[in-house]
Amino acid sequence: VIEIRNLHKAYGALEVLKGVDISARRGDVVSLIGSSGSGKSTLLRCANLLEDSQQGEILFKGEPVRWRGTGMNRHPADPKQVLRIRTNLSMVFQQFNLWSHMTILQNVMEAPVTVLRRDRAEVEEAARRYLDKVGIGDKCDVFPAQLSGGQQQRAAIARALCMEPEALLFDEPTSALDPELEQEVVKVIKDLAAEGRTMMIVTHDMRMAADVSDHVVFLHLGRIEEQGPPATLFGAPKTERLQQFLSASV
Ligand code: ATP
Ligand code: MG
Repeated sequence: VIEIRNLHKAYGALEVLKGVDISARRGDVVSLIGSSGSGKSTLLRCANLLEDSQQGEILFKGEPVRWRGTGMNRHPADPKQVLRIRTNLSMVFQQFNLWSHMTILQNVMEAPVTVLRRDRAEVEEAARRYLDKVGIGDKCDVFPAQLSGGQQQRAAIARALCMEPEALLFDEPTSALDPELEQEVVKVIKDLAAEGRTMMIVTHDMRMAADVSDHVVFLHLGRIEEQGPPATLFGAPKTERLQQFLSASV
C-alpha cells in the first residue's frame, strides 16, 4: 500500500530523516519505535504528504508521488494526487484533534461529506457503524469536551475509518491517555489489526507494538537502526542502541 525509499527530510539545516526505507503491504501492521526526536512523527507526516521531503521516493499502491523541483524546492506536483494519497492514509494524532464545536457524529461525518463529497445519508450510516465499532455508539450527539480522553481518541479512530482509507497512520495514539483509558484504545487497535487493516503505528507502548505488529522498525537519529518481526526485535535486539532503548522504556 505504501512504500518509502531512501527518504531524506531536513528542517533547514537540521537533517531529520537521513535515507529511510519503509513499507507496508496490504494487511501489514508496522510499528515505529525510537527515542524522542528520532524522526518518527516526521516520517509519518512525510508519508501522507503533510510534509515535503527533499530526496527519495514515496509510492502509494505502486504509484510514485510526482514531484516538481529538487532539494528544498521539491514539492508534490499534482494536488489531486496529494488529496488522493492523504485521504487514503488517514492519520490519528496523539491529541485527537477533534473539532470542539461539532458533535461526535458531525466530527466523523465532516471529511467524507465535504472532502470526498459522499452521500450524506450513507456517510451518516457508516459513521454510526464505526462509532458503534469503537464502542461509543451512544455518544453521537455529544461534544468532544464531554468525553473522556479514551473516548475522544476512539472517536478520532472512527473518524479516520469513516474515510474508508487504504491504511491508517497512528502517531502515538495512546500517549496522552491515563493507563486505564489507554487500554480501551489499545483494544480498538488490536481489533483493527485482527481484521487485517493496514496500519503504521508510532508508539511508545512496546507491549502494544509486540502484540499487534507484523514488523517493527527502530528509528535512531533519522536512520533505521534495526528492524524485524516483533519477537526478534524485542526478544533478541542486536544493536546496543536498541538494547539501551528497550531497557530504558520498561
Ligand atoms: P517524539 O517521540 O518526541 O514525538 P519524534 O521521533 O516523533 O519524537 P519528530 O517530531 O519527527 O520526532 O522530530 C524530529 C526532529 O525534527 C526533532 O529534532 C524536532 O525538533 C525536529 N522538528 C520536528 N518538526 C519540526 C518543525 N516543524 N520545524 C523544525 N524542526 C522540527
Ligand atoms: Mg512524534
